[in-house]
Amino acid sequence: MIIRDRYAPSPTGLQHIGSVRTALFNYLFARSKQGKFVLRLEDTDQTRCEERFVQNLYDTFEWLGFHWDEGPDVGGPGAPYVQSERTEIYQKYALELIEKDRAYYCFCSPERLDKVRQEREAAKSGETGYDRHCRNIPPEEARSRAAGGEPCTVRLKIPLEEKGGAPLVTKYRDLLLGDIEWKNSDVNSDPVLLKSDRFPTYHLANVVDDHLMGITHVCRAQEWLPSTPLHIIMYGAFGWEPPEFCHLPMVMGTDGKKLSKRHGATSIDEFRGQGYLPEALINYVALLGASYQEGKDLYSLEELAGSFSLDKLNKAPAVFDYKKLEWYNGQYIRMKSDAELAELCLPLAVEAGLFGDAGPNTEQKERFAAAMPLVKERAVFLKDIPEKLGYLFSEPPLPEAGEFFPKKADLAGTIELLEKGRTLTPPLASAQSDGEAEAFIKDWAEKDGVKLGDLLMPLRVAVTGARVSPPLFGSLRLLGPEASLARVDRALEYLASKR
Ligand code: GLU
Ligand code: ZN
Repeated sequence: MIIRDRYAPSPTGLQHIGSVRTALFNYLFARSKQGKFVLRLEDTDQTRCEERFVQNLYDTFEWLGFHWDEGPDVGGPGAPYVQSERTEIYQKYALELIEKDRAYYCFCSPERLDKVRQEREAAKSGETGYDRHCRNIPPEEARSRAAGGEPCTVRLKIPLEEKGGAPLVTKYRDLLLGDIEWKNSDVNSDPVLLKSDRFPTYHLANVVDDHLMGITHVCRAQEWLPSTPLHIIMYGAFGWEPPEFCHLPMVMGTDGKKLSKRHGATSIDEFRGQGYLPEALINYVALLGASYQEGKDLYSLEELAGSFSLDKLNKAPAVFDYKKLEWYNGQYIRMKSDAELAELCLPLAVEAGLFGDAGPNTEQKERFAAAMPLVKERAVFLKDIPEKLGYLFSEPPLPEAGEFFPKKADLAGTIELLEKGRTLTPPLASAQSDGEAEAFIKDWAEKDGVKLGDLLMPLRVAVTGARVSPPLFGSLRLLGPEASLARVDRALEYLASKR
């Protein structure tokens, strides 16, 4: 059997970390079994679906870098993959269920349904939803009323009792959660399949499409668990084999509540805007609620696909830890080559105004790329990189004089140290490597008897504008002897003015 699974989002919002995780698990499962992964747009709720959310879906997966084998944009044997283009199909299947006496027309007005719901709630009898009022209208009568144009919906006739009167139950085995059993009387009471505008509801469109598209495995969020017995009943009513079901564990914040905006970013757009790399998100999300190899944290998409299996999923809810995701991001930043990293960060640097309004010239671009080794090791987000490198492209503002002082030094002592630093600046800035600069300065400090840290602090502040900065020697090399000297002179003048 060829495994076929699917991601079936409703484009009613931005792509969310939880839904992307569902998509990813389906993708990985299909890949691990040499199967097919299908994208289907469930846009039957026309009041809530928007074109911009469809666009966001495409942009998100383009950025994440994994794709479906069949879908609205790439086509496939199950086309069309957009439910609003399939309404006639659902109408046909709704009628088929009516013919089989497994569904019926309901002529209740919205007002009546509201009233029933309120009364049932007030009575607290445990009975909720529709009261099956139209279930026993003789089929001939119902058909002619519907044919005559009376507004109506089509409802599923959920079998409630066995022939002998025993209550019916619906059972299935969830691939993750095991055996699941629901009393039919507890299943959503005769839900609407076709609305009065002839549009299908989620249940009808979902089941018909999973069947027609040959879906063998439905892996979806646990919030859909209550719908599954209903779907199984529908498969039975059509006389179709149901697919396998696997309900994925929920994603929680560290406080044990369902992950939401209160915890931090949730849409992929936000993560992207904050400077997360797609590789980091994919790696972290794939391990969220799944256990792979003990002691191995970093997996490429190919490795994940190679080692994925449903028995690696955990039943317990997954906890989304933003700190852990940050760690992953830092790891993936360090795995980038300097050239790749520079290319990713350059637009952010432009945006942050590093190169002024005109944008970077060739020399600035080269310097930016050459600066990657200075910042790569510590960066957690891409935006950290341009933030730390501003001083390489324009003279940093002069901090307060005290910032220049090494421990225990005063203004006069600091000026003296910086004057020494000035004479050392050209050779340091001309050194070929950190090693060469270090050897030179150590040697010099030893002969002079000055403490290396004391010597370098005012020089660092003069060149980078801060006590804590990317490495000094690399910065001097990138600025070159002339510009470096100019910064030292500027600082000396400034400190002299404070005397
Ligand atoms: N359209 C549903 C959603 O938005 C699909 C649920 C399912 O996978 O069956 O999540
Ligand atoms: Zn009714």
